[in-house]
Amino acid sequence: TDAHLSAMEAARVLNAFVMETPDQARAMAREADAEIAKGDAGPLAGIPLGIKDLFATKGVRTTACSKILGNFVPTYESTITSQLWRDGAVMLGKLNNDEFAMGSSNETSCFGPVGNPWRRDGSNTTLVPGGSSGGSASAVAALLCMGATATDTGGSIRQPAAFTATVGIKPTYGRCSRWGVVAFASSLDQAGPIARSVRDAAILLRSMAGHDPKDTTSVDIAVPDYEASIGKSVKGMKIGIPKEYRLDGMPAEIEKLWSEGAAWLRSAGAELVEVSLPHTKYALPAYYIVAPAEASSNLARYDGVRYGLREQGRNIIEMYENTRAEGFGAEVKRRVMIGTYVLSAGYYDAYYLRAQKVRTLIKKDFEDCFAKGVDAILTPATPSAAFGIGEKGGADPVEMYLNDIFTVTVNMAGLPGIAVPAGKDAQGLPLGLQLIGRPFDEGTLFSLGEVIE
Ligand code: GLN
Repeated sequence: TDAHLSAMEAARVLNAFVMETPDQARAMAREADAEIAKGDAGPLAGIPLGIKDLFATKGVRTTACSKILGNFVPTYESTITSQLWRDGAVMLGKLNNDEFAMGSSNETSCFGPVGNPWRRDGSNTTLVPGGSSGGSASAVAALLCMGATATDTGGSIRQPAAFTATVGIKPTYGRCSRWGVVAFASSLDQAGPIARSVRDAAILLRSMAGHDPKDTTSVDIAVPDYEASIGKSVKGMKIGIPKEYRLDGMPAEIEKLWSEGAAWLRSAGAELVEVSLPHTKYALPAYYIVAPAEASSNLARYDGVRYGLREQGRNIIEMYENTRAEGFGAEVKRRVMIGTYVLSAGYYDAYYLRAQKVRTLIKKDFEDCFAKGVDAILTPATPSAAFGIGEKGGADPVEMYLNDIFTVTVNMAGLPGIAVPAGKDAQGLPLGLQLIGRPFDEGTLFSLGEVIE
């Protein structure tokens, strides 16, 4: 814990932590020491972790990196973090993220952008760590914590993991409790770990997962010992390569990495087959309807009355308006407006309902594929390596949204997906591959991920 606290101090330039909790960390570490001495230590005893600022932490400011929650101190602890503390982990502090997890570069945070510890060969440009879990990925990659919590609504665990050569898994929808995690799009949101290795991710997920009576969408099935999946043979497994993910204009190095990944799995005894997921091309537009729609509804609670910031006004309506105008950033406002529009009476059928139908088709594509005996699907994690701060999405938000092209399908279908570091581009930057699994079969992803890692 002391070593990590010093590393955090030395790396403040990354802006990965938005709140450091050294006193709490030392107290928790001492408690873990005492438990180890007594011989009844939990599986994470003394392991220092960073917590994405989307997780409510009792008595510790939780902001979702939005000005509107700037002074919010929860009186409760999220289920996931309580389980981590139950197992002995130590909290180092709260990690930066895109405001309300809306973004792919961590540039929408009210605390400013996060630096990626990786740089292009011979260049001094500061690169984004990806988003929205940019602080989590950057802190793990820079060895400021041994692991971090993160959330993934449309790629926010997997894309930052791919940009920083870390491992990130978005579990099956329902695997982890969402209780006490600030809601973005409730039918897509799932939390998971970002870690230094596949094994670490497996160990962390076991503590984070499980049924929670406080979240009725969390599923009451046993959480396996994921660590036991590490090193398990993948011989005879059938791995699908979806032809629709071969995009026009895809960089040659991504294409090459993908073939290499397939070759590694083949030499470990897996069988590679081409599969088709015909509705893939509709996933991104449908996601950018469903996610803002749910966000506009979830964010209605930030009204200046219940949480955080309150601006003055001559009457209550003006107070709401001034609070929201002042408290939300540009991307969040864009999402609220899009979401409200697609849910409005005249447009509901044309946009929201249609997007939900597309979502069902995307899910069915995967079901058909798994019904043919496919155990997992291999794809690139991102269409490029990390880009520079300020380089994308300025005038055209869609340019930023395109980052999520390989990751959003997994959330739309509720499936588990892991991003594993697999190689580097010509500039020396990390690139990741993604494995998508059957519902609740995270174990297979850990076995396959370890072969690629
Ligand atoms: N980049 C996507 C978005 O902005 C996904 C974010 C996420 O997974 N939280 O909506």
